[in-house]
Amino acid sequence: MIIYHSINDLVSLSEQLKLPMWQVIRKADCEARQVSEEESFATMKKMYQTMKQTDADYDKNLVSPSGMAGGAGEKMRVFNASGRNLAGEYLGLVMEKALKTGESNACMKRIVAAPTAGSCGVIPAVFLSFEEFNHMLEDRMVEAMYITAGIGAVIAENASIAGASGGCQAEIGSASAMAAAGLAYLQGGDNECIVHAMAFALKNMLGLTCDPVCGLVEVPCIKRNSAGAVNAVTSAQMALAGIRSAIAPDEVIDSMRRIGNELPACLKETGMGGLAVTESAMKVKEKLDAR
Ligand code: SF4
Repeated sequence: MIIYHSINDLVSLSEQLKLPMWQVIRKADCEARQVSEEESFATMKKMYQTMKQTDADYDKNLVSPSGMAGGAGEKMRVFNASGRNLAGEYLGLVMEKALKTGESNACMKRIVAAPTAGSCGVIPAVFLSFEEFNHMLEDRMVEAMYITAGIGAVIAENASIAGASGGCQAEIGSASAMAAAGLAYLQGGDNECIVHAMAFALKNMLGLTCDPVCGLVEVPCIKRNSAGAVNAVTSAQMALAGIRSAIAPDEVIDSMRRIGNELPACLKETGMGGLAVTESAMKVKEKLDAR
């Protein structure tokens, strides 16, 4: 049986079996779900294609029922095309796609929870933009999706991927770590590079609160997807440059669990703290209550 419980396990299995990490994760999936390698790959490809469809189906005119979400992805597209983009073409597109998927979620369109609905924009933003820019074969993108899945599974087992139990570090933080690892792989990083990209991304998000306004997955969630996606690129780039995390990747995940446990309940999706109790948030709540 191929079973992994940690980042170290993933690296060791990859070395022992002399298989790329994504194939180890696929083998584990095949065993756990009793499917063939082809069936497993087809399922993962379908998920990636669904992310692509969400991006293609973005409707710039949609506004969420609360009025807080809608149109930001289109604004970013227009700005990116204006010649005033501060971040370079790839990062500009990453930000745009993250906003689009986050808004699509708020407007009840179909998305892939990766790992959650609130953080659904991070991985597609990083991956779809990379595919577009580098004319990648779709199958290579699917390989990177396995890396994200393996990293996400380890985080879920050892810490959390739910804002309600670990704060937003568990949602946008995990998504960012998953995307960073996948991106490092896509750009030719070895196992060490992949797991250090993951560690950087997660470290950069430690302590992030979950404080959604009116309990809706809109504010601050949508724009955090954009920040989480850019953080993934920063983290992958640092790892690819040969920079290494002083804290071992599994220890970063352990830290996230401990920090999540220590966060007060008001900062874990209860809407009772942080941004959710600001004057601006109260005004939105009054408007919604008056309906
Ligand atoms: S703030 Fe909370 S609801 Fe919003 S993305 Fe983060 S964890 Fe999810």
